[in-house]
Amino acid sequence: MRWPRSIRRNCWRACRVKSEPLVVAAVLTDATHSIASALGLDSRSARLEARVLAAHVLNVAPSWLIAHDTDALDAASLLGFRALLDRRLVGEPIAYLTGRREFYGYIFRVTPDVLIPRPETELLVERALAHIPPNTDFDILDLGCGSGCVAISLALQRPLARITALDHNAAALEVARDNAEHLNANVEFLSSDWYSALGDRQFDMIVSNPPYVANDDVHLSEGDVRFEPTSALVSGKDGLDALRHVIQGAHSYLRAPGYLLLEHGHDQAEQVARLFTIAGMASIQIWTDLAGIPRISACKLSE
Ligand code: GLN
Repeated sequence: MRWPRSIRRNCWRACRVKSEPLVVAAVLTDATHSIASALGLDSRSARLEARVLAAHVLNVAPSWLIAHDTDALDAASLLGFRALLDRRLVGEPIAYLTGRREFYGYIFRVTPDVLIPRPETELLVERALAHIPPNTDFDILDLGCGSGCVAISLALQRPLARITALDHNAAALEVARDNAEHLNANVEFLSSDWYSALGDRQFDMIVSNPPYVANDDVHLSEGDVRFEPTSALVSGKDGLDALRHVIQGAHSYLRAPGYLLLEHGHDQAEQVARLFTIAGMASIQIWTDLAGIPRISACKLSE
């Protein structure tokens, strides 16, 4: 029987360890070169990735590796590291390999069932918080919660708010529930296809980071997104199907002041503002992300 190539390579590495132990610095340098050439990264980013993966396998902080760069790696750790490295070299996102990603200062568990939390979505949390009073209760709905990063960050920042988060994907809801439990956040989770399970419930604010990428967007075949759930990314021919649905329905589920805050694509702010107006919403605001791209739009029920 012929073993798969990755196993043969790992065995070879393990044998080599017996006679000539590999130290942390050498393993990291080797991995940095492989990552840089396979993924086209500069050596600084590649080294950072190698450190994150090694720290994950060894269950230490990345800074530990710097202080222990002459330590020899045991065979099991080396095998574990090589296995993760091989997956990274074919493009699997770091967050899925380590199973975690930081968002708004909290560590969230992530799996391939959920979108990887992104820095631009922190702006959605920040703008929502600006409208949520800290000292009174406030009903907030997060539509399509994925990992729960938005709803849970809001809950942790505004403990008096009542937060409901929903998703149609059972596996995503399980990840979100798990995150809420670990972070000790008070969030009610519902399985629902957008508004469908809400009955006559109403909220003071609706937030959402819905799928907003067009079906044929070339970016879908590049980088991390290739490994992320299509249903959390893609939404029709122009990417606006979910945004249209969320905006059209918002009126029925909002009570005054009735804030609606949405994340959208880099070229969708104008269409989103038009959809807000058609839906009879007022006080439209648009914020740009750190890259200067209009990314978050908000409106209120007309007064
Ligand atoms: N911001 C993500 C991207 O550009 C898309 C996330 C989403 O559709 N909500 O890949």
